[in-house]
Amino acid sequence: MLINRVPRLACRTQLGALIAGSLYLTLSDYALPGLTEPWDPAEEVIVEPLPHLPVIKDLIVDMETFFEDYRAISPVFKPGNPDPSKERLMFPLVVRELEQYTPCILCAACYAACPVNRKNPRYLGPAALAKLYRFRIDPRENQGAERLMTADNPEGWWGCEFHTNCRRVCPKDVPPDKAIGHARQELSRMKKDQNSLGEGQ
Ligand code: SF4
Repeated sequence: MLINRVPRLACRTQLGALIAGSLYLTLSDYALPGLTEPWDPAEEVIVEPLPHLPVIKDLIVDMETFFEDYRAISPVFKPGNPDPSKERLMFPLVVRELEQYTPCILCAACYAACPVNRKNPRYLGPAALAKLYRFRIDPRENQGAERLMTADNPEGWWGCEFHTNCRRVCPKDVPPDKAIGHARQELSRMKKDQNSLGEGQ
């Protein structure tokens, strides 16, 4: 929910800390519609429905657009090789890299805090892109650049403006902006290599 005008988990947000102002968060380019009533943050906690999603009633929003974007990236593990006789092993370094993106609980706080999602409802959004990158770097998938290419467009990797609100509001410390930055670097390198190959022929 939007609590004191910032997307947060209602179940984990402590009222005392809000009133004391110690949960203060500044978000970049995050203009919300003005309030209809006066509000004193030292005395009152204001709770609103998540923005960027249609309100069904009171604080309940329709999260279908968020989940549609999530489904669009095919968020399931697709092993690249037949099942081994034992487990699929991974280097600890790779596991640590992957683990940054796996704790997502699909709360949509990042989606609600993202100014690009406000401007362009077709933008896949931080959670879906972070999950897509999680599968891209999973060596057990071994799909080459296929995963990256699914979001090689203005509604995907290239839509992000790096406001970094997603990382600041995420209750699980997932860094979608980092995933997006890495994906863009990789795509740019691939395109540069393809161009130099073309010039060399
Ligand atoms: S990335 Fe973080 S903020 Fe976004 S949906 Fe997942 S847990 Fe919530």
